[in-house]
Amino acid sequence: MERLYYIDPYLKKATAKIVDLKFEGDNVKVELDRTIFYPEGGGQPGDKGVIKGEGFEIIVENTIEKEGRIFHIGKLIGKTPNKGDSVELELDWDWRYGNMQIHTGQHILSAVLKKMYNLDTTGFTIFGEYAKIEVNGEITWDIIERAELEANKIIISDLPVIIEEYHELPEELASELRKSVAKVKGKIRIVKIGDVDITPCGGTHVRSTKEVGIIKVLRFYKKSRDLWRIEFTCGFRAIREINIILQDYLNSLELMSNKNPPLVKRVKELLDTTNSLEEKIEELRREIWEWKGKALIEKATKIGDYLVVTYVESWDMKDAQAFAVDFVKRNPKTILLLASEKYVVFARNENVPVSMRELFRKVASELGGKGGGTDNLARGKVDAKPETILSVALEKVKETLQLD
Ligand SMILES: [Zn+2]
Repeated sequence: MERLYYIDPYLKKATAKIVDLKFEGDNVKVELDRTIFYPEGGGQPGDKGVIKGEGFEIIVENTIEKEGRIFHIGKLIGKTPNKGDSVELELDWDWRYGNMQIHTGQHILSAVLKKMYNLDTTGFTIFGEYAKIEVNGEITWDIIERAELEANKIIISDLPVIIEEYHELPEELASELRKSVAKVKGKIRIVKIGDVDITPCGGTHVRSTKEVGIIKVLRFYKKSRDLWRIEFTCGFRAIREINIILQDYLNSLELMSNKNPPLVKRVKELLDTTNSLEEKIEELRREIWEWKGKALIEKATKIGDYLVVTYVESWDMKDAQAFAVDFVKRNPKTILLLASEKYVVFARNENVPVSMRELFRKVASELGGKGGGTDNLARGKVDAKPETILSVALEKVKETLQLD
């Protein structure tokens, strides 16, 4: 199988013959006697495009390599092809060329980070519109900007990108590599970028640094101890990616009441406002709790030494429960029984000798429902109207207290 993308990475069209094809679900997997489709590997994604034959077309969505065999994976339109059929290959050139630009850009960026900051690139992946590298040391905005400027100077310098293939690596070359290689199996491809970088690589690259267009870092962050990730993009993709970020930035700024940059200052003002509103809400909540507590005490039922408060609640369960817990804590010898259409909450001051869990069990066994809790607090759902639940619960409390 001939890898035409290594002979000429700028080959957008070629002819080939089908060697084998298989169906896997909705996909067809095609092997050819020669191909311009680069298979996913070394951080570079697989190629896309079209394979055209007599009466059929295969829309190639990905290309992968397994044990030296290249599979073109995609959707078949038209009749099923036969082995030996002649086909025309056509690459999705925007996709491939973008990958070539970003891949060559990665060599330059990694070389600059190595030379200026002695940072080794330990990982590289193209995700489509952007790519990431991982380096073995801390990154700052200062490092990023200096490295970007240097990398873009190299781009403008129009340095040639030359590929050499070796069966055995000459010693003087091996010592110059940015990335050391283990023993060479078969052939090794060495990518030389002017006098800037020499590194082994099996990807596809543009022929001059100028074609990378631009290198722009989009973000960077610590991935783990000693490992920092840098996301960057190149060429036409840089325009699209930066526009996405700019639109997000400008649209966010536009939402502010004060629309003057910097956005970070506006966001901090917004956070301050939110915090002071939350404080205000907390203040008002305390006040409401106090008034509500006073009103409830006044209409409480007295049973012996104890006060039982019952009422139908309209608040969310979370808020109602928080109030109930606070109320019984501040009012000794009280029980608070509240019910809504959706839930019930029973709470007691811990000095009252009635178990709320036990009370809930009794009410639920008479009316139906489920829930539970502790001696101090029980909650759940009971299958009856709130008023019914409360009158049944009150009866049970009376029984328990008068038994003692
Ligand atoms: Zn490469």
